Amino acid sequence: MLNRIEGIVLKTQDYGEANKIVTLFSQEGGKITAMARGAKKPASRLAAITQPFTHGSFLIQQGRGMGTMQQGEQVESYRHIRQDIEATAYASFIVELIDRAVDDRTPQPSIFNLLQHALHAISDEYDPEAIALFVEWKMLPVTGIYPTLHQCTNCGATEGEFAFSFQQIGFLCHRCFSIDRYIIRLTPAQVKLIRTFYTVPIEQVGKLTLKKETKTFIKKIVRTIYEEQTGIRLKTRSFIDQLDRSPQYFPKKENPSTAPEEGV
Ligand SMILES: [Zn+2]
Repeated sequence: MLNRIEGIVLKTQDYGEANKIVTLFSQEGGKITAMARGAKKPASRLAAITQPFTHGSFLIQQGRGMGTMQQGEQVESYRHIRQDIEATAYASFIVELIDRAVDDRTPQPSIFNLLQHALHAISDEYDPEAIALFVEWKMLPVTGIYPTLHQCTNCGATEGEFAFSFQQIGFLCHRCFSIDRYIIRLTPAQVKLIRTFYTVPIEQVGKLTLKKETKTFIKKIVRTIYEEQTGIRLKTRSFIDQLDRSPQYFPKKENPSTAPEEGV
């Protein structure tokens, strides 16, 4: 059976001298793998179409086991992502997170939508670090984590000061701060930003301009949730950490102290 599948390449693995096993996140069928024969050879018509982040329309011959990719046409190449090291780093992080968090062959059109919009935004030169944060918060429920962010996890209050509690996996109001010794106090702006990351659909968020410190702070919270609750540790994170420690390689980057905070 020959199927036409629209999908985005999450990763590839070399197989033998000339072949690649391609993992796609497809609109209709979720995560699938297919053998792309000859795709390692630069002259192969499958070589370009099986590059990571490529959004394509693929013809896959489905047998009993892994399907075989017959051909593909590019829908989007996301060229900017490949040309900018920071964009590449965050896009790699996003595809690795999605690859790790989802099960094979489970249709999840909302995640396809999230992935497509995230790559689009990075390709349109939106801040890749903010987009990756967005995807991280959005992917928590996919891994079975539903943080309580609309009210206090303990008393249900919606008014007051809030802090994040890893123990409760959500917000605690100032009346309940004492139930967790390790709370992280939040400013009203940080509370609002975390809610935005978690609840607002990616296509509705305008161009987010956030201070480096704000991103680092919120990244620490979501990273800790992943590490403590899901056991998902991503290889691409260490590369991003290296980039963060070497700002001299990114002359384009805005000066964090002068970047306006807006769009939330
Ligand atoms: Zn409370």
